Amino acid sequence: MIDRVLAKVFGTQHERDIKKLAPRAAAINALEPSIKVLSDGELRGKTAELRARLAAALEGVAEEEVKEARSRALDDLLEEAFAVVREASVRALGMRPFDVQLIGGMVLHQGKISEMKTGEGKTLVATMPVYLNALTGRGVHVVTVNDYLARRDAEWMGKIYNFLGLTVGCIQNSLSDDERKKQYACDVTYGTNNEFGFDYLRDNMKFELESMVQRGHIYAIVDEVDSILIDEARTPLIISGPSEENTDVYYKCNRIIPRLVKGEETKDKYGNKTTTGDYLIDEKSKTAVLTEEGVAKAEKLIGVKNLYDLANIDALHGVEQALRAHTLYKKDVEYMIKDGQVLIVDEFTGRVLPGRRWSDGLHQAVEAKEGVRIERENQTLATITLQNYFRLYEKLAGMTGTADTEASEFHQIYKLDVVVVPTNMPMIRIDHQDVVYASEREKFESVTDEIVSCRERGQPVLVGTVSIEKSERLSGLLKDRKVPHVVLNAKFHEKEAEIVAQAGKSGSVTIATNMAGRGTDIVLGGNPEAFAEHRRAETKSAEEFAALLAQLRSEAAQDRETVLAAGGLHILGTERHESRRVDNQLRGRSGRQGDPGSSRFFLSLEDDLMRIFGSDRLQKVMRKLGMEEGVPIEHGMVSRAIERAQKQVEGRNFETRKHLLEYDDVMNRQRGEIYGLRLDILKGKQGKDEVLVLADVILDYTLGRNLPEDKGPDEWDTAAFDLDLKEYFGITPGSLDFSGKDRDEIREMVLAALREIYEAKEKLLGPETMRLHERFVMLQVVDQQWKDHLLAIDHLKEGIGLRGYGQRDPLVEYKKESFELFTLMKERIEDQIVQYLFRLQPVVREAEGEIVDEEARHAPVAMPSRRSANVNYSYGAAASGGQGAKVETIHRSAPKVGRNEPCPCGSGRKYKKCHGAAAAGA
Ligand code: ADP
Ligand code: MG
Repeated sequence: MIDRVLAKVFGTQHERDIKKLAPRAAAINALEPSIKVLSDGELRGKTAELRARLAAALEGVAEEEVKEARSRALDDLLEEAFAVVREASVRALGMRPFDVQLIGGMVLHQGKISEMKTGEGKTLVATMPVYLNALTGRGVHVVTVNDYLARRDAEWMGKIYNFLGLTVGCIQNSLSDDERKKQYACDVTYGTNNEFGFDYLRDNMKFELESMVQRGHIYAIVDEVDSILIDEARTPLIISGPSEENTDVYYKCNRIIPRLVKGEETKDKYGNKTTTGDYLIDEKSKTAVLTEEGVAKAEKLIGVKNLYDLANIDALHGVEQALRAHTLYKKDVEYMIKDGQVLIVDEFTGRVLPGRRWSDGLHQAVEAKEGVRIERENQTLATITLQNYFRLYEKLAGMTGTADTEASEFHQIYKLDVVVVPTNMPMIRIDHQDVVYASEREKFESVTDEIVSCRERGQPVLVGTVSIEKSERLSGLLKDRKVPHVVLNAKFHEKEAEIVAQAGKSGSVTIATNMAGRGTDIVLGGNPEAFAEHRRAETKSAEEFAALLAQLRSEAAQDRETVLAAGGLHILGTERHESRRVDNQLRGRSGRQGDPGSSRFFLSLEDDLMRIFGSDRLQKVMRKLGMEEGVPIEHGMVSRAIERAQKQVEGRNFETRKHLLEYDDVMNRQRGEIYGLRLDILKGKQGKDEVLVLADVILDYTLGRNLPEDKGPDEWDTAAFDLDLKEYFGITPGSLDFSGKDRDEIREMVLAALREIYEAKEKLLGPETMRLHERFVMLQVVDQQWKDHLLAIDHLKEGIGLRGYGQRDPLVEYKKESFELFTLMKERIEDQIVQYLFRLQPVVREAEGEIVDEEARHAPVAMPSRRSANVNYSYGAAASGGQGAKVETIHRSAPKVGRNEPCPCGSGRKYKKCHGAAAAGA
């Protein structure tokens, strides 16, 4: 009844997890005969039926129990829904999900991570839980690593969803807001993590509810989840606009670095530390610091007396970043130059991350070092880490070939459990022992030899490298020996998927930076469908195309035999990565679905991992074991030592990410509160009543300060009170006569006046316009203050690192201070909302029939309109796959609202006469 693999008796936790799900797989199988006989129409009809049953289960359920009830109801429908999708898949795609795929789908439905090896068909696995959860109509998101895969999967799996009457959307980088909204309105939406995250941020900068594109965060399945939630976790999404700053300082600081000398820390025989040279480098932690001599020299070279003077903070910062740029960041490793721009290269994938910039002046320092134009520093307008974005979802699930090594991190940070799902066919790939050479040169020579010998046998090879630089070095060696090959790296990634798809052809040699081409299946003998698609233009009719496809298929089948005879795909690693997971990912490209295959890593003592993290002991042992020129060492001890080093680095990286998360938690709560407030404003839940309450609070505050309860009238500071009334509410001093009144009477009098002022304005504008006016003012204030707060927090973070705290924990200090900043910001928001709403004085100009906010032009505090600011969305790694070379940065340099267009606040006046005036005056 169930596949053989599942029938085996298991022992480990994962196996027990799987065993629990096996009966459900059997139940799905049992439904198959009754589903099979349905007509296409009847099968599609199942969707409506299941939806009706879901609705029935939720009928009359109390609000607070809906969530629980819904999840129970969905669970009850699981077997039937999965059986329906399985049959739809057979009919629409010709693939019948295997039992292990059903199991993988159940794990996803439970909100866990399904570890399934490469080639197990995770794309298809996702359709089952997606369909089930989409029955609620609340929108399911499927997250892919790049735009190309989002498009591919939405189209491919869309056939199943459409067959069953579900709508499918796909978010692409180039889409407009209107189009995005349509895609989000679908039952299922595919897209990259960055698109989802940025849409969330952008939605929270919108001025109308209707222009928000997302409709909630219900259930997300994250494909290649380790890449997104672990490798990318350290990079927050940031929307920024340029700030006014002077770039000269970067050029100036850049010039002095070559004149500084690298030194080191030394200990004398008493253990006293001294330093030599002008600066010290620590590659492990990527830090570079000036020594005292270095500081003195830098001061002289730049021409400042004291770098640590507050007035010279820019110069100090500039020198530090220039030093890092020169000593820790290498061209074609950490970054590359293209079209006069410094582009960051992702350390994990070797891909270029267009539009992404290092923060805190580092990017500018690298630009100065490379002599390209310095882009103006950007100020953060909105930001979120991927961790916190994904934690917004009611239910989160993930899938990948490599999660188990990071299971504890997934659990601790995301509360995601990992379940390892067995492969459909037994895995027969042979993973050979690492071989270690004394020098990198010898290593690369042997790598080349091995490639040549594979090629002679007709065995395809996929070579993994850690950087573009290494890829090119190897490519050069192969060229010398006239070995045809393709190099897959950041520079070519538009064609990545296409090339990887053919990497299984006999004799092909593909060099790829680690994890490049993730998500693309390597079929032994090549992928005839993809190849035919590529050559479609050569054909003139559907018949011709079909003939071409048939021909390519038979060629591929033949070639597959050659490759199988040669041992399948061979994976050749040229260096161990810092994380075992990434090595496993590379290995996993071979041996899919029971194919034969093999893998081997070639290492040298000069590799970064060995050099920086390998112990001295290891080096000594290696030498003792005898390292002759060209003769490698293959020894279990070496592999164990490497694994230890990797575990150590993994642990450290986890700590870094956790640390970052702890800091980000603070910001996350604050963002949640502000975005919540914003949403209330947009929904009209913050209006007149709330403003009057705020006014009341402020009145009490000024009463308490100037007319204290415990003091008599002769001790009151009525002058200061008058000023406050003017300042906050625009009440002209003396216009209210307080003489002979007691405190309570004065309070009542002012309150009455406030109500009167407000009502008068409302009468003038009409209630509808007044509501829009309130909303617009509040949003302006909130956004401006939030933006300033983000800047302050950036500085605070920077400062926390620099300040000495003695015994105190910097995180605790950071939490305390950021909380204080946040509280102050909220007070400023309240003050300003009241000030603007009470003081802005609408005047009706009879002649033109227009209302003008007279005082808006001289608003007490500048009210810069976000709409006229230069807004710039830097889409981090979003661009990859198909269209990555394009720099996806949107610059908004012109006001979005034309000066003569109607003001977006809805007043009916021209923008320049309404809020545009405030913006212009700012
Ligand atoms: P993964 O994401 O797990 O690496 P993919 O989703 O890219 O794997 O699928 C790998 C290949 O397996 C695809 O070519 C797909 O068509 C095929 N495949 C997946 N599931 C099935 C199935 N049940 N029957 C036949 N082929 C399948
Ligand atoms: Mg995949």
